Amino acid sequence: MASSEELHKRRQAAVARGVGSVVDSYVDHASGGTVTDVEGREWIDFAAGIAVTNVGNSAPRVVEAVRAQVERFTHTCFMVAPYESYVAVCEQLNTLTPGSFEKRSALFNSGAEAVENAVKIARHATGRPAVVVFDHAYHGRTNLTMALTAKNMPYKHRFGPFAGEVYRVPMSYPLRDGGLSGAKAAARAIETVEKQVGAENVAALLIEPIQGEGGFVVPAPGFLPALREWATAAGVVFVADEIQTGFCRTGDWFACDHEGVEPDLVTLAKGIAGGLPLAAVTGRAELMDAVHVGGLGGTYGGSPIACAAALASIETMHELDLAAAARRIESVLVPRLRAIAERSGGRVAEVRGRGAMLAMELVQPGTSTPDPVGTAAVSAACHRAGLLTLTCGTYGNVLRLLPPLVISDDELARGADILAAAFD
Ligand SMILES: *Cc1c(COP(=O)(O)O)cnc(C)c1O
Repeated sequence: MASSEELHKRRQAAVARGVGSVVDSYVDHASGGTVTDVEGREWIDFAAGIAVTNVGNSAPRVVEAVRAQVERFTHTCFMVAPYESYVAVCEQLNTLTPGSFEKRSALFNSGAEAVENAVKIARHATGRPAVVVFDHAYHGRTNLTMALTAKNMPYKHRFGPFAGEVYRVPMSYPLRDGGLSGAKAAARAIETVEKQVGAENVAALLIEPIQGEGGFVVPAPGFLPALREWATAAGVVFVADEIQTGFCRTGDWFACDHEGVEPDLVTLAKGIAGGLPLAAVTGRAELMDAVHVGGLGGTYGGSPIACAAALASIETMHELDLAAAARRIESVLVPRLRAIAERSGGRVAEVRGRGAMLAMELVQPGTSTPDPVGTAAVSAACHRAGLLTLTCGTYGNVLRLLPPLVISDDELARGADILAAAFD
């Protein structure tokens, strides 16, 4: 087999430079809690392919379901000749997502595509143009979702002009907004919308209940419920982007469950199908069904192979109670992260997150000045020592931990040891 070095040379000659990778070595295989490269070096996996392999890599039920489906048929296109698994995934999503009202779902390929479709549905159903998004938001890399995303570099730089009628308002970011209460932060965001956009022009308010790429920002309690209440009163469609937070990641099935917030529409992807590409919009039947027949769809959306994987993943989440597993990961890792923070000499401003979506925000010692260089250095030290970690944040100064929810206690402990050593 080719070495990582050889593969890297071939890559440079064949793959566009704009597609980056976190590590240099090439993967041979991966399991529940580890990834092994072609040289046989093993990493403990605190990335889960960016919160995708919640059930682990090559989870047994997923492998079996995909194999059986590939043998039956690979593709007919649901818009040409429909099949049961698409319907079954929609039934599951309608039941699992927050809100006991009548729901419908539609399936797509990627998170960005789900977000695009949620905006299409909200605009069509309300007849209004504007979409309200937040500072630090990340919603994807297509033209509309670049407009919805906050951060210029690397996501938007020189890729404009962007889609219009997108308005950005302040987020609740307790570490960096002076600890505004959820209610006050929501009032500030709402006032911005009312003064600068006008509620009657707003089709949708789109928010990640815990921000992902933007820095694992957990809004102050009460922020999401206050926005939900305002959206209801203003006739605005409340869209929760649960693409990173979904499918047991935060210790509930969805992050909105934590405060009992019931979105009108939810966008889903990443953790939905054990690594196969699948995404969805799920929400109120009257909004979803407002769109004319043929208005939603796509060649591959809800591929039978991805649907088989999603059904097997959801079964695995139930069977292994992965929401509880995420809470257990939090209870194991948070004390370790706090100990690292205490020994860091003021370099860790905050340990935050929920369930198996945890982060440390790094600053210049004793200040609130972000430290992206130190963050990258800690992350690189982890990679060298056998731990896959990711960074994120508007300022690039957040170390984020997203282990698969099936990771073993031993792997978790070894990962935390590597992280502690990387800080030293
Ligand atoms: C990853 C992500 C997206 C985009 O999903 P893709 O599948 O990469 O298109 C959108 N929203 C959030 C919150 C994400 O984390």
